[in-house]
Amino acid sequence: MSGDRTRFWSPAVRGLHAYTPGEQPQGGGWIKLNTNENPYPPSPLALQRMADAVDDRLRLYPDPQAIALRQTIAAQHGLQIDQVFVGNGSDEVLAHAFMGLLRHGLPLLVPDISYSFYPVYCGLYGITCQPVPLDDGYRVRVADYLQPNSGIVLPNPNAPTGIALPLSELRWLLERNSASVVVVDEAYVDFGAESAATLIGEFPQLLVIQTLSKSRALAGLRVGFALGHADLIQALTTVKDSFNSYPLDRVALAGAQAALDDQAHFAEITRRIVDSRTWLVAQLAALGFECLPSSANFVLARHPQHRGAPLQQALRERKILVRHFNQARIADHLRITIGSQAECEALVHALSELLAPLQNHIKVASA
Ligand SMILES: *Cc1c(COP(=O)(O)O)cnc(C)c1O
Repeated sequence: MSGDRTRFWSPAVRGLHAYTPGEQPQGGGWIKLNTNENPYPPSPLALQRMADAVDDRLRLYPDPQAIALRQTIAAQHGLQIDQVFVGNGSDEVLAHAFMGLLRHGLPLLVPDISYSFYPVYCGLYGITCQPVPLDDGYRVRVADYLQPNSGIVLPNPNAPTGIALPLSELRWLLERNSASVVVVDEAYVDFGAESAATLIGEFPQLLVIQTLSKSRALAGLRVGFALGHADLIQALTTVKDSFNSYPLDRVALAGAQAALDDQAHFAEITRRIVDSRTWLVAQLAALGFECLPSSANFVLARHPQHRGAPLQQALRERKILVRHFNQARIADHLRITIGSQAECEALVHALSELLAPLQNHIKVASA
């Protein structure tokens, strides 16, 4: 058929349902609370080291093993270098984990409300994805994951709910699920959850994945890493070296290492975001929103008198972007990234204006 635009595509690609990233608007003037980016700049030390890395050495390939960066990460977590893998964003690290560790012919278990990239990787690698429902409070119930599986993937804190799973519950699951890999995606762990990295010595099936995109304010640099038993890391390395030997360029290696060295900057921007989260949740509650208890740099909130989609659209018209998911149980929620304090204040101002006519209407109706 001459009109078939996919006629040259490999058959496997025709059936893929790709991930849709949050909107990155063109032009300025937007308040971006839709993709969980950090509102604060990256470490000045990281910016300096990256500037220093831009010179004639760029004609040379970077270190394919990223030894210096992995050494830094290993030291910070009390691990050996062969227990650390680095990749081009944690999305790439996750992809290699799906390919290298989670394909065994049984279903992969993930929470039904979770990071929407997981089912996409399942589609790409031919893994059956089995969503496990969160409970009525939108919490992960670890006992529900005790069923035959090719692996388990849990974001902690979960996204987009923001709810953290206590380490004791994760341990409970690891003690009972020892025949397959448990991936804990800790993209948001620095905003208030306990890292499972401390359990790695005890559980050879545990893979912990972190990113510099959120808490280190380096989403544009694309650096993520995995921590786990050396045998798991070796699988990731084998996949990587069968795909792209140099996922991190020289600038990224220099910047990532400096960002991890600069603990003071990291502590400061993380503290500010957590403070603004406390403030924003209180303000949203005062406006009538119900917020799930967040341990992340975003909050999932719904207003009992407002549908999610029109509220998102009304904010968009005021140049404020928040994320809305067309998905059962959260279709009337908005996922709001914690911005700078000024951005949070602008959001609250916009919402109080948007909700005011309704509030007045309710007052009139009940008078
Ligand atoms: C943002 C995010 C990632 C991906 O982060 P990158 O390192 O930027 O690829 C992975 N998992 C979850 C749950 C995320 O929210």
